[in-house]
Amino acid sequence: MEADLQIRSPTVEGTLTRAIDRYSKFIKLFKFYPGTMINARTDPAWTSVWIRFAQDYQVCNCWDCEAVLSVVTASLGSDTPIDTIQMAHSIQEEVAYYRAVEIARRKNRSRLPVRVEVA
Ligand SMILES: [Zn+2]
Repeated sequence: MEADLQIRSPTVEGTLTRAIDRYSKFIKLFKFYPGTMINARTDPAWTSVWIRFAQDYQVCNCWDCEAVLSVVTASLGSDTPIDTIQMAHSIQEEVAYYRAVEIARRKNRSRLPVRVEVA
């Protein structure tokens, strides 16, 4: 997560929530397989998580994928279908802004980019 700079991502809350969920499921594996040494970085662990929880343990974690997951997760249970074109544009704009801010930070710019509402 640190390499992906998740702490500054536009979807840090959703990313952390999903990470906690994956970790909780990983911990539950010890209960399902007592006495077995499970390493999060080995294929059997990911396979076990996938089989037990119908979920992949290994995820991309890039800002774009996390933003898509956050939007899709937020829409679960809603009767309104996701407008995928609108979602893609919105995510692209959001992530681009956060990247611009990060680039400015790394260049030690005294002024960070500011969002401007377009009427
Ligand atoms: Zn990704």
